[in-house]
Amino acid sequence: MSKRKGMTMRNIIFLGPPGSGKGTHAEKISQAMGIPRLSTGDMLRENIKKGTQLGTTAQRLMDAGQLVPDEVIIGMIRERLEQPDCAGGVIFDGFPRTLAQAEALKEIASIDAVVNMTIADERIAERMSGRRVCPACGNTSHTDWMEDAGCPSCGTEMVQRKDDAPETVLERLRVYHAQTKPLIDYYAAQNLLRTVDTDGPVQQTEAKVREALR
Ligand code: AMP
Repeated sequence: MSKRKGMTMRNIIFLGPPGSGKGTHAEKISQAMGIPRLSTGDMLRENIKKGTQLGTTAQRLMDAGQLVPDEVIIGMIRERLEQPDCAGGVIFDGFPRTLAQAEALKEIASIDAVVNMTIADERIAERMSGRRVCPACGNTSHTDWMEDAGCPSCGTEMVQRKDDAPETVLERLRVYHAQTKPLIDYYAAQNLLRTVDTDGPVQQTEAKVREALR
């Protein structure tokens, strides 16, 4: 794929620790802008569901809160970006997560903005303990917003993701600080960073994200 520079392309990255609301807000912006959200976590979970070899390799690492190897992730993204629906721009959710991934991305797409979602570490465990996902449609929610255990979209009983268990969340947080946080300086140096404090109600964060992308 050629590097798509200077076109009417809108490639936006959502960066942040687990539980910062990346997925929720990336999805809102994806819908508002009418461009796809590329969540590497969702792609990996899809592979696990289908029982692919990639899924089998990824599952062990994901369950342990570790990152899946860069070359696997980069290959997956490269393939996805070839799809015609990505031509008008995409929202990257949970990618890149390492400097090597960011460097690889630079070679295949130009980035217009990086939304850096911040939240204090102490708040993360609290948020993650209430996070629920729909096993049928993949919708995510939080017990604070849910009236019952049913998925707001399809009614299926929502469950906790295995890697949202407290001990795994701690490991994911450690991995975030060690491997993903350096991307903040990396993108700040390129003048692309727009930081949003996500420690507030979801509507407030949504307004801040929109403002950051204005
Ligand atoms: P997420 O749904 O974004 O929280 O991702 C869940 C898990 O998938 C992570 O904890 C990693 O194990 C794996 N994963 C997702 N995206 C990446 C990535 N860009 N690089 C490496 N591993 C990833």
